[in-house]
Amino acid sequence: MAVSRGYHFFQNPGPTNIPERILRAMDRGAIDFTGGQFRGLAEDCFAGLKRVFKTEETILAYTASGHGAWEAALVNLFSPGDRVLVVESGYFSLNWGLRCEAFGIEVETLANDWRIGADAGKLETRLRRDRDHAIRAVLIVHNETSTGVVNDIAELRRAIDAAEHPALLLVDVISSLASMDFRMDEWGVDVAVAGSQKGLMLPTGMAFTGVSKRALAAGREASLPRVYWDWRRLVGEGSQAVWSGTAPVHFFFGLQEALRMLEEEGLDEVCGRHHRLAEATRRAVRAWRRNDGPEIFAADPRTQSDSVTAVVLPDGHDADRMRQLCLDRFNVSLGGGLDRLKGHVFRIGHLGDLNQPMILGSLAAIEMALELSGVPHGKGGVDAAMEYFVSEADGPSAG
Ligand code: PLP
Repeated sequence: MAVSRGYHFFQNPGPTNIPERILRAMDRGAIDFTGGQFRGLAEDCFAGLKRVFKTEETILAYTASGHGAWEAALVNLFSPGDRVLVVESGYFSLNWGLRCEAFGIEVETLANDWRIGADAGKLETRLRRDRDHAIRAVLIVHNETSTGVVNDIAELRRAIDAAEHPALLLVDVISSLASMDFRMDEWGVDVAVAGSQKGLMLPTGMAFTGVSKRALAAGREASLPRVYWDWRRLVGEGSQAVWSGTAPVHFFFGLQEALRMLEEEGLDEVCGRHHRLAEATRRAVRAWRRNDGPEIFAADPRTQSDSVTAVVLPDGHDADRMRQLCLDRFNVSLGGGLDRLKGHVFRIGHLGDLNQPMILGSLAAIEMALELSGVPHGKGGVDAAMEYFVSEADGPSAG
């Protein structure tokens, strides 16, 4: 096996690069998680998370990946036989729905083409037809990581309101929080589910959930069994008071540093940087598209994600083979196609601790991997990305 030197270019749509500052912040001894020092640290982190979620509501944290927070939302809110409406966007939306079914929750899927954003008109029509309000909640993935398509949560919220429907709005912000605009309170989101290993730049292993008062009240009525995830036990006066087991103290050291980094940069600029990195990536893919080459999976430019770009290879070409070559030859790791997109799509993650040269390096490796894999494509993807960055060079930073 060849020895790799230099940086591993980690271009997955999560987990993402962990900045040195966060690693150093975690590089210390344990402290008593029942003591005042940890309480102060946790309170500081919950206050910072509220600013990132843009909410005044309760934030809860679990030792878990995003899948845990998905499950936590379900077991806290529903009773067997309850009905939910899953707005289809791709692999992750359908998977959240499968978890509902496993708990005896009735799932209805609002079918949607994976290449475009969810249709608010269709949601409104469906909810208007639900006259007896059997649908308890609408589940939506904000940024569908499997397709690189973003759903317009504010517009979907307006559709629920226009239908005068009381359904709770549950939103998965796992690959959008701290990289794309998200406003829990302004957009009327009842439950927002997030993870640690994406925009928050932490290792995988913690999940965070914003919970509205309405959702907490619904949780008091729900009857699915729950212990580890039980919001009724975890919630204290304004912030989390209790841990199910040992609190993940080191994550909080890292989280405190991550929140400092986000605040130093400013959330608007964090989103601006992600937009520029995404736009450069899209311009590269559009250049590759010539000669019947690869194309951006997300068909509508208005709903193309700023944290991940899924790229479809021309028929007859294996995206996983090309991805493997990119990893073996150039030490650049890309995301693979999920579910029905497996082998057809590769995904370029451009979220977290990244700057322009890092993206350019990865785009150069991808362009070489396309060539070496015999995938037809136009040349000049990296040039197109560089031209865009130069045209944007008056921006506030090199990101
Ligand atoms: N939802 C979305 C949109 C995701 O991107 C992911 C993971 O990539 C998940 C859910 C699952 O999260 P985890 O892998 O942390 O369990």
